[in-house]
Amino acid sequence: MSSPIPQTPLVAGDDAVSLTGTDLHLSFGDNHVLRGVDIHVDAGTTTTVIGPSGSGKSTLLRVLNRLYEPQQGDILIDGVSVLKDNPDQLRRRIGMVFQQFNLFPHKTVAQNVALAPRKLRGLSRDESYDLAVAQLDAVGLKHKADVRPSTLSGGQQQRVAIARALAMKPEIMFFDEATSALDPELVKGVLALMSELSQEGMTMVVVTHEMGYARDVSDSVLFMDDGAVVETGAPAKLFEDAESERLRTFLSQVL
Ligand code: ADP
Ligand code: MG
Repeated sequence: MSSPIPQTPLVAGDDAVSLTGTDLHLSFGDNHVLRGVDIHVDAGTTTTVIGPSGSGKSTLLRVLNRLYEPQQGDILIDGVSVLKDNPDQLRRRIGMVFQQFNLFPHKTVAQNVALAPRKLRGLSRDESYDLAVAQLDAVGLKHKADVRPSTLSGGQQQRVAIARALAMKPEIMFFDEATSALDPELVKGVLALMSELSQEGMTMVVVTHEMGYARDVSDSVLFMDDGAVVETGAPAKLFEDAESERLRTFLSQVL
């Protein structure tokens, strides 16, 4: 099961950016899902978002990349509001990895990774293929470039999905429960890759139930409940010295 050692870093050494959301609100009908959320992710750091199911974590990510337009509040990259930009332009700056990898089954692994760079970044077929192979190398899957996704394990497919997101050269990465659909033995490899990305200085927001990752890898943790940030701070503080009863209760259930 061991993979060749990658030859390529995950991200080119571009300058990292910060991400800020202020007073974000969103309702679906009369369901007030985000109730004034503030989040700040320093350049090159990782914030994990934890909280019970239905607390608004996925919605927060979707608002931050404007898949859903916030009804109030602002979103800033490096202190500059992005609300007036074209949403497609913003989404190209933010790579996203979901629970479901959604790879195209009839394309090869490399073709899956090459597709968006070719269509959206205007690379030629050869350029995008070379980029895909380099990005696959960085996630330890160069040797799988020319096979179909279905021949890969779930963990390998998720690493391909990460390579696909990175091939767009995003400034920020979002992960929404990227390991939740994986068999337990496959979780480790994906978490290791996410940790490496954190350590390489990618700016990241990670929604996860993996408390080990939240505690050991992330620079800050944000605990959401009922559409609001209940508590935020350094992992050591939240995990060892939670202030709110709600966070203590949540941690007692998941740890
Ligand atoms: P979490 O990711 O923390 O489990 P979500 O952000 O998925 O929570 O959901 C928060 C709330 O928003 C839930 O009540 C959910 O039903 C609601 N919600 C999320 N997306 C939609 C949508 N597209 N339409 C209507 N309601 C939604
Ligand atoms: Mg969710």
